[in-house]
Amino acid sequence: MENSPFKNLAEDAPFELSPVMPTMLAGDKVIQFRCHKDVGCWNACCSNIDITLTPYDILRLKNRLEMSSGEFLKEYTVPYEMDQDGMPGVKLRAVEGGTACRFMKPEGCGVYEDRPTACRYYPVALLSMRNQDEYTDRTSFALVQEKHCLGHQEPRSLTIDEYRQEQGVDVYDEKGRGWRQLVLKRKSAGPGIGKPPAISNQLFFMVSYDIDRFRAFVASDAFNKTYDVPLEVMATLLADDEALMEFGYNFLKHTLFGEKFLEERDGAYEQRMERLKAKAEKLRAEYLAGREALEDEKYSDAPRPGDCGCGDGERA
Ligand code: SF4
Ligand code: SF4
Repeated sequence: MENSPFKNLAEDAPFELSPVMPTMLAGDKVIQFRCHKDVGCWNACCSNIDITLTPYDILRLKNRLEMSSGEFLKEYTVPYEMDQDGMPGVKLRAVEGGTACRFMKPEGCGVYEDRPTACRYYPVALLSMRNQDEYTDRTSFALVQEKHCLGHQEPRSLTIDEYRQEQGVDVYDEKGRGWRQLVLKRKSAGPGIGKPPAISNQLFFMVSYDIDRFRAFVASDAFNKTYDVPLEVMATLLADDEALMEFGYNFLKHTLFGEKFLEERDGAYEQRMERLKAKAEKLRAEYLAGREALEDEKYSDAPRPGDCGCGDGERA
C-alpha cells in the first residue's frame, strides 16, 4: 500500500469523501459497533439528519403521535424527488433553522420504539438492487463510517444480521419490502419517453405516504364503482392500516405497471373510456375557443384602415 497510487486519495480530495464504505456486505459480516448513552458522541448523529421515510415509518410515527397521515406529513416531513421523473419521496423535517431531528431529546430519541428504518439501521446501510430482467430484488449492506461516530471504537463485535435483529429492523424490512420493490421497479425501468403524467406521481404519493387519504379514496363511490373489492376485504382495509398499506403496494403495481391485482366491475373500463373521451372533447373545445379568442385579439390589434390618422380609411 506504501506506493499505491490510491494512498492519498482521501487527503487530496477537494471535499469530504462519502462515509459509506464502498463494499457490499452480507448479513453474516461481523462489524465492531456499539452505541450507548455514555459514548462521547451521544446524539451527534441525530443533530444533522437526512432521513428518508418509508410508508411503514410514517404509519408508525403518525399513530404514535395520534395524528392523521396528512397532519404528520405537513408537520414533520419535507418532500423531495427520488429520481429524474419526479418520483415523490419524503424526508424527516429538521428543527426550524437547524439540522437536528425534532424528536431528539438530551436522553436520546423521543420516539425510540417507533423510530424510522434509517435510524434503526445506522451505521449500516441497506442496499437493494434489481436488474431490469429480474423480478425480485437482491439485498446487501454497507457500513457507514462517519468521523464523529465513536461507536465504531467500542469493543463489541456482532454480525450485521444480529445488529438488525437487535434494532428491530427485520419487521420494518418486511413491512417495507413491497414498497422497495415498487421503487426499484420504477427506477430500473430506466428513463421513459417523457415524464410520467403528474397524476401517477400524485397517486404514488397518496398511496405511499398519505394512508388516511388513501383510505378515504378506497371507501369512495368512484373507487367502488370501478373496482370489485369483496365486502370483508373492504372492511379489513378500512379498519387496519397495515392491511391497507400492503393493499396500496399492490394497487400501485396494478395501476402503474399493469400487474393485475383487482377485478374491475363490468362496464367500468367502458365508463372510464367514456369519461376520458368526454374530458378530451372538453379540452379540445376549450383549446379551440382559446385559439379563436387569440385570433380575434390578434386581428383587433392589427392596424385597421384609419389607424394611421389619415382620415376615415378612404384613400386620398
Ligand atoms: S427519529 Fe430518533 S433516532 Fe431518528 S434521528 Fe430522530 S431522534 Fe435520532
Ligand atoms: S455512537 Fe454513533 S450512533 Fe451512537 S450516538 Fe454516537 S454518532 Fe450516534
